[in-house]
Amino acid sequence: MITQDRILTFPLIIVFVFTSLISFAQDSFAIKNVSVIAMIKEEVLRDQTVVVEKGIIKKISPSAKTKLSNGVKVIDGTGKFLMPGLFDMHAHFFYEQGAHINTNETELKLMLANGITTARIMAGHPSYLQAKANVKDEKWIGPELNVASPQLVGKWPFSTEFKNYEMVTSEANANEAVETFKRQGYDAIKITFMVNMPVYNAIVAAAARAKIKVVGHVGPLVMLPAALEAKQQIEHMDMFIETLLPDTSYNHGQSVSDFNIYSKAAWETVPHLMESKIPALAKRVKDAGIYVTPTNYFFISNAGLPLTDEEIKNKPDYNYIPSNLKQEKWRYRDSYIKKMAPLASREKYVHIRKQMVNELWKSGVPLMAGSDSPEFFIVAGFALHDELRTMVDAGLTPFAALQTATVNPATFLGMNNRTGTIAVGKEADLILLDKNPLDDINNTRSIAGVSSGNSWLIKSDIQKLLEETKNILGK
Ligand SMILES: [Zn+2]
Repeated sequence: MITQDRILTFPLIIVFVFTSLISFAQDSFAIKNVSVIAMIKEEVLRDQTVVVEKGIIKKISPSAKTKLSNGVKVIDGTGKFLMPGLFDMHAHFFYEQGAHINTNETELKLMLANGITTARIMAGHPSYLQAKANVKDEKWIGPELNVASPQLVGKWPFSTEFKNYEMVTSEANANEAVETFKRQGYDAIKITFMVNMPVYNAIVAAAARAKIKVVGHVGPLVMLPAALEAKQQIEHMDMFIETLLPDTSYNHGQSVSDFNIYSKAAWETVPHLMESKIPALAKRVKDAGIYVTPTNYFFISNAGLPLTDEEIKNKPDYNYIPSNLKQEKWRYRDSYIKKMAPLASREKYVHIRKQMVNELWKSGVPLMAGSDSPEFFIVAGFALHDELRTMVDAGLTPFAALQTATVNPATFLGMNNRTGTIAVGKEADLILLDKNPLDDINNTRSIAGVSSGNSWLIKSDIQKLLEETKNILGK
């Protein structure tokens, strides 16, 4: 089956790469009469002209005062909004699933077509380091990649066919894994689950020596206080909800963080969760000085208030899921739905996840937008816009939501000197929107152009990319 798929897609991929490089490469261009949302402060600069040369922003000035040199390609930005390209801080590839078919290049194109100019890949694999290099060398078009290591785990109960994990059960294992992944070029050390406390401490110490960040899940063998102490960058708000249990703890201190969405006993704690404890939780997280990626859309739309069959099929994402994976995904979803907790508990869980995001934001914790695509029916690119909308549903202003996908992740990744805001000297990671995202966060979807590296994609290029990637992935 794999071989057959590869034979079929191979000629298509060649044709698309070839046409892509020819039609998109632009040495320099200027976007005229555009409203700039630079993401430095909450303001819109009207009637600006932004000049880009060889992928770098050379000039931002009022259009009336700007003279353009001959031969510069001019893009009319009248009535449109220019903002920094988006970051998806939690992404995976379909390669990890089903029959392990490598469609990395196509998924990166799909991210770019959705305005994502930087993506962090959260469970490393050698092919992802190669993908990162291919984008950097302009062999592929796609977002710049930041690739976390293969996930460090204490146990691996899944298929062992695809090696994007490393078992670490001793301090020696931990040291070796951290050093090896640093040497191989991974950008962070990813922890997933069942890592015990001595091993966790060894990972944190080894990472500090190797000067590499520790990111990822917080498991029940570690719990939140130790993760905050270690200043780990936390995904999914793991173990946050546990701190809302009454002091006389239920269920050994566990609630519905992370994989516990599958645990009946964990859901039984939900009626006892104390919303009044959220401000104190937010303060502890703020004091630790860490960044948090809530991935709230993922948890809400799949576990809290799962979308209906109709809603799933009507999302654009659905057309991009390989058919061999669709069956598996429906099976997982149906088995979850059959056993899921009562509606009142799930509504409370959703409310609490939103309240936690709200309080973290109000307390000044830097949040980062992550889609966790392609899990369940969530697909690269589209799902990041859903996550931004979910940030606003939690009470963030549209500007604050946009920060979670621009300046905050750029700062966390140490890239803010070259991307994350629109300023002279920065890379031209830009998206052009038909409508103002500060009026309505859903307007991040009104993409009229995307610039990344030397590529400038106009609307017809984006349409073409969306069609091409659908034909490859969705068949
Ligand atoms: Zn993930």
